[in-house]
Amino acid sequence: MVVAEAQETLLERLNAMDADALFAWALEAHGDRAAIVTSFQDTGCVMIDMMSKVAPGMRVLTVDTLRLHAETYAHMDAMEARYGAIERFTPAPARLKKMVAQHGEYLFFDSKAKQEYCCTIRKTEPNQRALESVDVWFTGLRRDHSSFRVDTPKVQYVEQGDRLILKIAPLVDWDQARIDAYVAENDVPKNALYEKGFTSIGCVICSTPTLPQEDKRAGRWRWFNALDGDKKECGIHIGGSGI
Ligand code: SF4
Repeated sequence: MVVAEAQETLLERLNAMDADALFAWALEAHGDRAAIVTSFQDTGCVMIDMMSKVAPGMRVLTVDTLRLHAETYAHMDAMEARYGAIERFTPAPARLKKMVAQHGEYLFFDSKAKQEYCCTIRKTEPNQRALESVDVWFTGLRRDHSSFRVDTPKVQYVEQGDRLILKIAPLVDWDQARIDAYVAENDVPKNALYEKGFTSIGCVICSTPTLPQEDKRAGRWRWFNALDGDKKECGIHIGGSGI
């Protein structure tokens, strides 16, 4: 990926901004082409609350895999009631039907390849559709999520089809204590699964509670722990070039 000099300069300028300034800049500079893409975990919800104060009206997009926890659907409804409309991107019906007909609903148990296939159909492809509608993608990635994410840049360009879009993780260097403090101070709605020991929330079965000494994403696809080590990603956040 080649990033032009002007883009490098912009990356440096944006990298020096705090989260509030990044949201305000994005809405001013890109309007409806800037959006928060979130699965409504705590970092995403903090971003939405911040955005509502400094860049009200920014779009909020999510991928609904159609296999989320009941608590997550209830939480999404609560967030929508408080902060406004959420654009939900779901799996393409024909591709989903074909996958389930060929491999069954629980194909992710069979092999790593089938888990990745399921994630492609239910997550990555809808996420790609969501990203087609943006030039600036705000994400809730944090460096303390796992050792695989420890070098996550705050601002980077990523390829989206034949173009580059900005991917911004405004809270990339926040830790859990800072997120928790913001949630408490601002009374941000929280997914009830956190009270049940979850530290990373995804689909039913594929995300489970974690122990205190584990990585936040250790509860994902537990049956692959011996194979994967700590590289627990579905593909949405792999790739990119940033600072
Ligand atoms: S997390 Fe599990 S159910 Fe959800 S898309 Fe990936 S493999 Fe499928």
